[in-house]
Amino acid sequence: MKIIKKIDELRPIIKSWKREGLTIGLVPTMGYLHEGHKSLIDRAVKENDRVVVSDFVNPTQFAPNEDFETYPRDLDADAALCEAAGADVIFNPEPDEMYRDALTFVDMNKITKVLCGKTRPIHFSGVCTVVSKLFNIVTPDRAYFGQKDAQQLCVIKKMVEDLNFDIEIVGCPIVRESDGLAKSSRNTYLSPEERKAALCLSRSLEIGRRMAESGETDAKAITDAVRNEISKEPLARIDYVELVDLTTLEPLETVKKPLLCAIAVYIGKTRLIDNFIME
Ligand code: AMP
Repeated sequence: MKIIKKIDELRPIIKSWKREGLTIGLVPTMGYLHEGHKSLIDRAVKENDRVVVSDFVNPTQFAPNEDFETYPRDLDADAALCEAAGADVIFNPEPDEMYRDALTFVDMNKITKVLCGKTRPIHFSGVCTVVSKLFNIVTPDRAYFGQKDAQQLCVIKKMVEDLNFDIEIVGCPIVRESDGLAKSSRNTYLSPEERKAALCLSRSLEIGRRMAESGETDAKAITDAVRNEISKEPLARIDYVELVDLTTLEPLETVKKPLLCAIAVYIGKTRLIDNFIME
């Protein structure tokens, strides 16, 4: 497995794979890889001849008050995980290599302005821009994204449709710790006490999911129950709890599939997201 830091070094490798008629899978990540990322890489290895994992903490998706500087990084551990999983290349550029003096950004209306887009107004423009650039650099047949970031998956699918990228977007289920907490690189920010408190996310969503599965049709009854469970946790502060249409991300009054119940909750200073989907 190779670690590549320059676009001009990666392009000839991609071209040689294409000449051989090999299929390419791309797994975009910000590194500090865990079992959640590994599930995407495993699937990409299964479904493609060659796999590129991008490992890039993308500055344009962080606002100045967010955690770009402190975001955890460990390229050696990432390389070991990717090698063991059977990836062929880690693409790990410096911010300058990706942006230099860039003036062009990809933006999207509507579905980037709701849910996480309300608290993080520039986030999805950064995501769409970096993912477009990675699509143009790697030219994959398939790209793999986690349902952990359900809004991101929805945004990427729409961008691929709108901008005619000839790439199949594969959504992969959320991987959780044994006690239910969704795996996330940001979980490392949590103190032992906060780590326990963070269980209110998965616990509250489980209550919501059971209500929806057992026939509750009032969306507000479900979001109220989720909110109520989170509110019992003194270290938790709700950013949002919403039940929306999975494609348009518009709020639902009546439960109707396909739906996304998405939450963002601060545990101390750490903002965590989680969700359940019913298709
Ligand atoms: P990140 O490094 O946090 O930007 O995540 C890179 C990719 O891994 C995104 O598509 C995420 O949705 C996905 N991912 C992160 N955590 C998980 C998880 N617990 N389960 C499944 N996918 C995940």
